[in-house]
Amino acid sequence: MEHGLSTIMEQPIVDNAALPTQWARIRSRLQTEVGELEYRNWLRQMTFAGVDGDEITVLLPTRFLCDWVRSRYGDRLNWLWHEENPAIRRVDIRVGGGAATSVALAESLATTAETPPVIAKPEERMDQHPDLTIDPRFTFDAFVVGKPNEFAYACARRVAEQPSSQGFNPLFLYGGVGLGKTHLMHAIAWELVGRSRSGNGRLVSVAYMSAEKFMYRFIAAIRSQSTMQFKEQLRSVDVLMIDDLQFLIGKENTQEEFFHTFNALVDVGKQIVVSADKSPSDLSGLDDRLRTRLGYGMVADLHATTFELRISILEAKAARTGVAVPLKVLDFLAHKITSNVRELEGALNRLVVHANLFGRPVTLEYAQEVLHDILKAHDRRVTIEEIQKRVAEHFSIRLTDMSSARRARAVARPRQVAMYLAKQLTQRSLPEIGRRFGNRDHTTVMHAVSRVGELMTRDAVFAEDVELLRRMLES
Ligand code: ADP
Ligand code: MG
Repeated sequence: MEHGLSTIMEQPIVDNAALPTQWARIRSRLQTEVGELEYRNWLRQMTFAGVDGDEITVLLPTRFLCDWVRSRYGDRLNWLWHEENPAIRRVDIRVGGGAATSVALAESLATTAETPPVIAKPEERMDQHPDLTIDPRFTFDAFVVGKPNEFAYACARRVAEQPSSQGFNPLFLYGGVGLGKTHLMHAIAWELVGRSRSGNGRLVSVAYMSAEKFMYRFIAAIRSQSTMQFKEQLRSVDVLMIDDLQFLIGKENTQEEFFHTFNALVDVGKQIVVSADKSPSDLSGLDDRLRTRLGYGMVADLHATTFELRISILEAKAARTGVAVPLKVLDFLAHKITSNVRELEGALNRLVVHANLFGRPVTLEYAQEVLHDILKAHDRRVTIEEIQKRVAEHFSIRLTDMSSARRARAVARPRQVAMYLAKQLTQRSLPEIGRRFGNRDHTTVMHAVSRVGELMTRDAVFAEDVELLRRMLES
């Protein structure tokens, strides 16, 4: 295992016999923490595969589940394992074991079929509601405001204070990954439900779900012939929030359903909040009528963070941890990890956890040691040429075909993969990437990026291929 840590402490020994019991306890803690529904949908299929040194391996049957669990629960699993067994320092979540994709999907659909959408009923305390996917950490108070996000923040606050006010319905939040869209949506939900609980007016009900969940629930409702019930449930809420709407690109039926729900709610003065990675006008592949309606209210952009904002965020998060992190270290992190607040936060958390565990003061050297893998990934500058070369080799096509006009699938698909990777791994803009692939238009690149992303969620083998290429290029 590549880890700066193994050198600095003697390793506690892992007691293998205790692991199954510990795993059982971790599962049941997770179940309590995330709620039955969430647990059944995403975590139930985890299996414990073994231990290697200080690393535990957990398997999930599909890449989709695996990515999901890793991104949503990876940190939590690390924590829980370490709490159960201090000798464990890392949990590796991998694809393996269990049923095939279709079975897993069918199961996850079956479990959602009887379950209503996540609706925060104000009469129940939110933090005790088992179905709630509202993250209690995501409040307005915990959101650090700076130039790049102040407009979006102000709009979100406004909607939370005066839902359905003129000009703010729908509220459409957009921006790159990890810039705070989900955080703001959850903050609106908390605020609305919290205030309506403490007031003596009518109680407000809020439904929040990702577009992905919306789709699964919709499909499940069709299968179990309960679409009427699904529609009624959604149309009975005061505020509907759909996160990551770009997921609906290419899913015409779900879009259609969402469009109707959207209209039904707006027509009776209910508030809609939507997030996506692009502005309504740039969400090509989304139904034109829907795009137009999405742009009717307020469209607010979360811009890439500035150095100043990253420092403020780090300061705020460090202050909460109770571990003293020198400004020099924060400065270093804010310079190195620039793209995404989630990663920045992840790096700080890891640093603080390590410092706590080993009772070490946080110094610049220590940060470099503990975070060396994260920092390395950010240091590495992959060029478009390298990507084209690797991808061409991998698919056995000629390098010149990366820029040729040939449209045969055997050439076009690898080219799309290369464009996708260029978008993911370099800082180049879409028009620039287009130019480097034989002067193609930026919309062609955009299409390639969404097409590859979509194929990856559907085809595990293809996804594995692309992941492999990415890892090769990053290392
Ligand atoms: P997105 O939905 O845009 O991909 P998230 O809302 O999930 O991003 O944010 C990723 C992480 O970064 C979350 O843990 C969130 O709390 C944190 N974060 C993002 N922006 C801010 C901010 N301005 N202040 C505090 N935390 C932030
Ligand atoms: Mg999000």
